[in-house]
Amino acid sequence: MSVYQIVKNGDEVLREKALQVREITPNILKLLNNMRDTMYASNGVGLAAPQIGISKRVIIVDTGDDYLELINPEIIMSEGIQSDQEGCLSVPGYFGDVSRAHRVRIRALNREGEMIEIEREELAARAIQHEIDHLNGILFIDKATNLKADE
Ligand code: ZN
Repeated sequence: MSVYQIVKNGDEVLREKALQVREITPNILKLLNNMRDTMYASNGVGLAAPQIGISKRVIIVDTGDDYLELINPEIIMSEGIQSDQEGCLSVPGYFGDVSRAHRVRIRALNREGEMIEIEREELAARAIQHEIDHLNGILFIDKATNLKADE
């Protein structure tokens, strides 16, 4: 088990456009495992590779009983709007309201290197959109309204 330190806001890696994964190598599988260990150790509902300092297009999400590993994820359909409070392991202590699509359809590779398409709504859709933003150098604080520090 490898738990990584979460990269915090201010580090340049969080502002880079992460690179596509070209091939599922043993290193990518290790990255997924390390991200999972790190997310669970931090009680997060999602994590993007740049948050452990790796600028690759890899995200994981777990909203309770729905663990997802998505490599090179792309939103191919989105519909509706939801607005709710978000936070981020890379911006500890801050919360704000972010408007997101209610439902998204995602195309990605899984850890077997197979192209998959999944559809999620509500919290899982929110978490996926938040994590994909990380791959494009976007943090929730860029989009949030009513941003508050937790006291
Ligand atoms: Zn985040």
